[in-house]
Amino acid sequence: MHAFVFDQPAQRVIFGPGTLASLRDEITRLGVRRVVVITTPHEIRFAEDAAERLGDLSAGIYPEVAAQHVPVELLARAKARVDAIGADCYLAIGGGSTIGVAKAMALETGLPIVAVPTTYAGSEMTPIYGITEGGVKRTGRDRKVLPRTVIYDANLTLSLPPQISGPSGVNAMAHCVEALYAQDANPITSLVAEEGIRALARSLPTVVAEPGNLDARSDAQYGAWLGGAALGAVGMSLHHKLCHTLGGSFNLPHAETHAVILPHATAYNRQAAPEAMRRIAAALGGVDDAAEGLFDVIQRIGAPTALKDIGMPADGLDRAAELATQNPYYSPRPLEVQAVRGLLERAFQGTRPTLDGL
Ligand code: NAD
Repeated sequence: MHAFVFDQPAQRVIFGPGTLASLRDEITRLGVRRVVVITTPHEIRFAEDAAERLGDLSAGIYPEVAAQHVPVELLARAKARVDAIGADCYLAIGGGSTIGVAKAMALETGLPIVAVPTTYAGSEMTPIYGITEGGVKRTGRDRKVLPRTVIYDANLTLSLPPQISGPSGVNAMAHCVEALYAQDANPITSLVAEEGIRALARSLPTVVAEPGNLDARSDAQYGAWLGGAALGAVGMSLHHKLCHTLGGSFNLPHAETHAVILPHATAYNRQAAPEAMRRIAAALGGVDDAAEGLFDVIQRIGAPTALKDIGMPADGLDRAAELATQNPYYSPRPLEVQAVRGLLERAFQGTRPTLDGL
């Protein structure tokens, strides 16, 4: 076995349906007294419920996270309001967008975050933050933004409709796939990543077919946790870079972009990362090919499979290929503009990533 560094900061995780009932106890453990609940207008009912559970430990609700990727203007408004409330802790209830706003505030203030995720994006398990200014998203890592406590209560995900659940779950699966061929992968993160793919692949078809199935919801949350943990622990590669580029420069929706790109980014690295491919295929239930297996799962859960269906302009593919191969970064298969352009063409059309198609 090769030498490696495993550097995982501690987090407390409370897992299981009904665990939101422990919210006040968890806040008390942190020794804070003025919690502000951050959420979106759409998820305000969760925030009101949480504030009620907190009683005198709640200092107020900020329900105005109305955009993805933490636009700097939204952040300034949120920060002014939350500073005026005089909070000593952020309770983020929602998806990656809500948790992202709490992280960006914690980056400046160092206040602790308690996260109650309601999607499968996995942000609650990472020290990664992002802030968007002038259409450009700046990301970084800082342990200050890693939530101290995470409560996974699947009851809060029951209202997530299939068209959000499916792509969101694939977002978590993508963290696992790239962790398996990361330059700094280690045996522990690879175990986590493989198990994450397994949990998501077995749960997502039920989650979208029966949105009220609490067992499947809980299983998907377990997979999302593992996906976030893998993302937070090792470096990402071409897949995340492409999604970042397509989201930032072409304004494509975050989770849906992950769903379209994942089989194609996997196929790009097919020959260069055979051990990762073997583990992905095993986690998908022993399929013959990792990329095709991912394509099949994504199709089966009704998530989008073509960039042309989610708002990508055909004349943007050249620019996207150039942007995604700038500032070289690690990729098992070296980055070549023409090969990445071919990948994007197949993703644009929604072509099955067969072996002979490459
Ligand atoms: P999101 O937070 O924008 O939520 C997507 C939609 O789902 C919203 O309309 C929201 O109102 C709705 N929603 C959320 N929970 C719901 C529920 N329980 N029932 C019904 N509707 C619900 O999307 P997301 O995919 O969770 O997060 C995307 C953002 O997170 C992006 O900005 C992405 O860059 C970021 N992200 C960051 C990390 C990280 O480690 N920093 C990891 C993954 C994603």
